[in-house]
Amino acid sequence: MTNEQFAAAMAFHGHKCPAMPLGFRSAEAAMKTLGVKRAQDKELYVISETGKGHAAGCFLDGIMSATGCTYGKSNIEKLYYNKMAFTLIDIAGRKAVRVRLKDDFFGNMLNSPFVKLRRDGVLPQDVPAEVADPLVEKVLQMPEEAFLEVGPVEEYDFPKGAGCFETVLCAKCGERVFANKVTETDSGSICAACNVG
Ligand SMILES: [Zn+2]
Ligand SMILES: [Zn+2]
Repeated sequence: MTNEQFAAAMAFHGHKCPAMPLGFRSAEAAMKTLGVKRAQDKELYVISETGKGHAAGCFLDGIMSATGCTYGKSNIEKLYYNKMAFTLIDIAGRKAVRVRLKDDFFGNMLNSPFVKLRRDGVLPQDVPAEVADPLVEKVLQMPEEAFLEVGPVEEYDFPKGAGCFETVLCAKCGERVFANKVTETDSGSICAACNVG
């Protein structure tokens, strides 16, 4: 993770914490294993096993920053298993790798001074630099083997889905909508928002 990458990822994430660069480095390891670069469009897909818990959101923001897999492009999904693990898929290469934090590292992480302050109700952006900085520095410096379990590369056939380029006007609200999300009714094509109840 270069200084530039860290600055860009931190601007996106919103605060300085150890879990964001941890996710970034985990994603870098997955990308290196598959031999792929950051997605410019939908070349990669992430299936994250994280949930909404502490550190998980920060970790996933790091993964999104590194891989270019984002909710906007819909090339990422969350399984809410509350595990610090994810699978990175190379769609054209038809292969995937699962990466997870080592169990001891994951356990110890929750005893860090950063997490102690968070447990006491301190917001992440209010954690003092003398607490956050050394932890972030450690995450940036430590060898991958100290925190990561990288699984074998597996074959993975990603289901094909063609993008929709057609639109229609909803017969009820009159708003324009992609044609693959309407229901045909007696009074015409109805958008999903109007097709309730
Ligand atoms: Zn964070
Ligand atoms: Zn409508």
